[in-house]
Amino acid sequence: MSSNNNNYDVIIIGGGASGLMCAAAINMKEPSLKVLIIEKNNKPGRKLLATGNGRCNFTNLSISSDCYNTDDIDKLQSILGVYTSDIIIKLFEKKLGVIPAFKGELAYPITYQSKTVNDALVNACSKTEFVYDTEVTSVVKDGMDYKVNGTFTGHVVVFACGGVSLPDSGSNGSLYPAIRSYAGNDSFEKLLPSLVPLKSSDKDLKKLSGLRQECTVTMCGRVEKGELLFTDYGVSGICIMQLSGYYNRAVSSGKKIDSLYVDLIPSMDYEAKKNCVSGLLAAFPDRTPADALSGLLKKPIAECVIARSDGTADNIAYNIGNFRISLAGSLGFDNAQVTSGGVKLSSLTRGLEMINSRGLYVCGEAVNVDGICGGFNLHWAWSSALTVADNIVDTFEVE
Ligand SMILES: Cc1cc2nc3c(=O)[nH]c(=O)nc-3n(C[C@H](O)[C@H](O)[C@H](O)COP(=O)(O)OP(=O)(O)OC[C@H]3O[C@@H](n4cnc5c(N)ncnc54)[C@H](O)[C@@H]3O)c2cc1C
Repeated sequence: MSSNNNNYDVIIIGGGASGLMCAAAINMKEPSLKVLIIEKNNKPGRKLLATGNGRCNFTNLSISSDCYNTDDIDKLQSILGVYTSDIIIKLFEKKLGVIPAFKGELAYPITYQSKTVNDALVNACSKTEFVYDTEVTSVVKDGMDYKVNGTFTGHVVVFACGGVSLPDSGSNGSLYPAIRSYAGNDSFEKLLPSLVPLKSSDKDLKKLSGLRQECTVTMCGRVEKGELLFTDYGVSGICIMQLSGYYNRAVSSGKKIDSLYVDLIPSMDYEAKKNCVSGLLAAFPDRTPADALSGLLKKPIAECVIARSDGTADNIAYNIGNFRISLAGSLGFDNAQVTSGGVKLSSLTRGLEMINSRGLYVCGEAVNVDGICGGFNLHWAWSSALTVADNIVDTFEVE
């Protein structure tokens, strides 16, 4: 075990969700290992503090590899098979002292404060040294070790430096070239924003900006239910975010997706919509059609639907069930909750060590694994960090 001042057994780059969990797990499993976290911000977990609108949806009771995008589904499945949501919830409760609360399948700390999770992780890192306000710019092989920023020596180095979503939080991908130089040129999947609002060129949608509608959204046969938010640039809301990763990856690979369709009243089938619309139009002949339908649809939405239709009840009902939104890309990484792409899972061992460069590990958002909304991305941050910690501790035991 290392003893010199700037010599460490483990250097973790990034004090976010995965870096903190990795350090905490190594401290708990093998407290004699000398661990350093280097973080460019002046405090840990800036993005973690922003999660779940400050409430931190830290995992989900239905974790499954189907809910993720990655290049190596078998490896992902094997990792998630060990670190199930049950295990993560127990770990938070029994080892970190975070009591869970549930909203449906979504797990939160019972305080509904992400600070609770951040503080618990920092407290569990009692044997870890922290260096803040320090951006890692170089990781250079130095005999059997790695020299970080020319100052710190680590026997192993963990890249827990995040992706490129919400770059103001500190994760801006600045270390990707360094990671790539060790992992290999073929080890990278193109970076794209995911869990991000979509833009539309439909001018009539601008009048709907700010309105929310419970609906069903269909894009290329994929269906999402939930609340849609109309915005001045297009559409947002969880149902849109869930489709956004697929949309960006498909468009980036050359597929043409020019629209999505919204069923504005999914609780009624076409016949029920038609009967309801014709009934309201007949009942209130003195009102404008939008006023007649304003008990069925928010008035600006009714106006928009009617303007797109030929005025008959059949066609209005059809447009309510098939409200077309033309798509014009997505917002960028500044507004994305997660990064799609990064270091290919297939370029890492089952223990998330680089196949091409032993002693270098990658976990969290930096890896090409991105999940849907609902606690899946933090679950990956924890399970990948714990996988790395297991492997590092085993390696030191063997040595
Ligand atoms: C607004 C928002 C809400 C979200 N809500 C949820 C949610 O409720 N549930 C969920 O599951 N997921 C959520 N996510 C996603 C989740 O936050 C991420 O998946 C998770 O934080 C990734 O953890 P990470 O450790 O890989 O990266 P990060 O949390 O980004 O941590 C990486 C750390 O590395 C540091 N760093 C980067 N480069 C360097 C460098 N060169 N030198 C030193 N330090 C460096 C950064 O400053 C950062 O602190 C949300 C994301 C956003 C943006």
